[in-house]
Parts: sequence; C-alpha cells; structure tokens
Amino acid sequence: MLHALQEAANCHGDRLALLSADRLPDVQLDFDRFGLDTSPFFDFSPRKDLGFSARSLLIVASPSKAATLKLHGVGGSMKDVAIPAGYVDFENAEERIHGYLGALLHKEGFSLKSAPRLPRKAIAAHAGLGRYGRNNTILVSGMGSFLTLNLFFSDLPADGALFEPFARAECCEGCHLCIKNCPTGALSEQSELVEIGRCLTWLNEQGGEFPAWVEPSWHNALIGCTKCQFCCPQNSQFLSEMLTIELDEAESEALLGGKASEELLKKLGMDPFYAAVFRRNLAALRGQ
Ligand code: SF4
Ligand code: SF4
Repeated sequence: MLHALQEAANCHGDRLALLSADRLPDVQLDFDRFGLDTSPFFDFSPRKDLGFSARSLLIVASPSKAATLKLHGVGGSMKDVAIPAGYVDFENAEERIHGYLGALLHKEGFSLKSAPRLPRKAIAAHAGLGRYGRNNTILVSGMGSFLTLNLFFSDLPADGALFEPFARAECCEGCHLCIKNCPTGALSEQSELVEIGRCLTWLNEQGGEFPAWVEPSWHNALIGCTKCQFCCPQNSQFLSEMLTIELDEAESEALLGGKASEELLKKLGMDPFYAAVFRRNLAALRGQ
C-alpha cells in the first residue's frame, strides 16, 4: 500500500513518506534533547478524537512557489512585496492532497485525517522524506526547500516505514551561504538549530511590536523571510518561477486590515492566522 501511495503522490508532483505513530515519543525526544518546550505548539499525546486508531503518519512534501504580491491602493501607490515559498497555497495543498490520498485509502478501508499539531519538519526528516539544511528548512530532492509539508494520521499499518537518524543534508557540506545571508545572526556555525527568538520568520508571524534590536533594513517579506532560502543553491532553479499575485485596491485594504474574506484567503491559499499581522509587517517594510 505504501508503494501505491508514493506512486499517487509522485503522479501529483508530491513526495510521500510514512512514519509509525509509535515513534512519536522518539520524535518528541529530539526536542527534549535541546531543552525545547514544545507544549504551546505541538501535542504529542495520543489522539482520541480521530474516529480511528492512528497507526501511521503520512508526511507529504508538495512543491510551493515563492510569490510577489502586488498590492494596489496602499498609501496611494502600488507596493510589491515578497512572500517566501510555503505560504501561498499552504491551505490548498493540504485539501488537494487529502483528496487524492483519502480516496485511495478509503477504497482499501483506511482513514486519513489532518495532523496539524505535530512537528512536520522533524517527522519529514525521520521518515526519510528530506534532510535538514543548515538553515533549518527541510530539503527534499527536486524541491529544495520550496515546499509545503502536509501531515496526516491514518490507521494504515506502518509497514515499510523508516525512522532515520538526524543527519544534515550533504549539500550543506562546505556551504555557509545561509549563515552569511541571515540578517539577524539567527544561524551560526556553532549551533545545529536556528536561534528562534532572533529569526524574522518567528518574529513577524507573531503579533505585537518588533524588538528594538531588529534593524528596519532587515525586513524583506510581507510574512516570513526570504534571505536564507533565496541564497541557497538548492533553490536557485525555482527563483525564476515566482508567482505574481495582484490584489485590487479593495482586496489589498481588506488583507492589510485583517479583514480578508474567505474568498480572498482562498485565492492566496494562506493560513487565515496570518491575516492579523500583514498591516504591521507592511509598515515595517515601508519604514526602510
Ligand atoms: S545555503 Fe548552503 S548550507 Fe545553507 S541550507 Fe543551502 S546548501 Fe545548506
Ligand atoms: S528566516 Fe531569515 S532571520 Fe530566520 S534564519 Fe533564515 S535568514 Fe535568518
């Protein structure tokens, strides 16, 4: 069955790997090892509300494009802003993948349900789907880090599932471009992990004021940060394929005011959670 699922994913341009649900405590140990408190973000406890007993996790990488968003009527002029890969189409990718994998599994008597509160990158690495880059993204063959990771519970037995040890992607050997290009110093030779409190992606996805130490010139995207992914040789082939998304004046105002309609968010494929931070982030970009 795993082979059939992987073939289906490949046919849709995606890549799939399987992890046994029994290995979730081992995934949690990775975070414990670094002394990271994951409780605000992840829930490793067994799910009782699925309607089935989870035996496996299906992790699917789907290609994602970076985008230029053309905003009209913002302060009387058009403003082009960058959005890194992984944001636009995030919501639509999961729905699309659930559609074809769910149909295949249901035919064989198995179920599939989204697993939103588990660490996708760590699961992708352990399942052998990709490897961590030095910039803490997951690099998948043929996609670089321009991807979304989509995670599902299933009652499919985890036959054939891997549990790979952590290993840095081979392409990072001798390459330090992401460290050199990180504006905030969140990446360093000394640490295996991004220093999350210094990472612009972390800072601009949350609400509230930016810390005083953030230089105005460091802001570079409406949401997230492009710097350590756009410079990565693994992504160079995708930079010429950036999407252009144009919003008219009413759409631009709605997006920046945190009042985007469901239809507009669907057009962008973005997590509605981010709608609240767009106005602040754009103001930071214009403050340069
Ligand atoms: S820029 Fe170089 S070191 Fe950084 S993730 Fe890409 S290949 Fe690895
Ligand atoms: S996302 Fe930006 S701030 Fe965060 S590590 Fe990469 S380059 Fe640095």
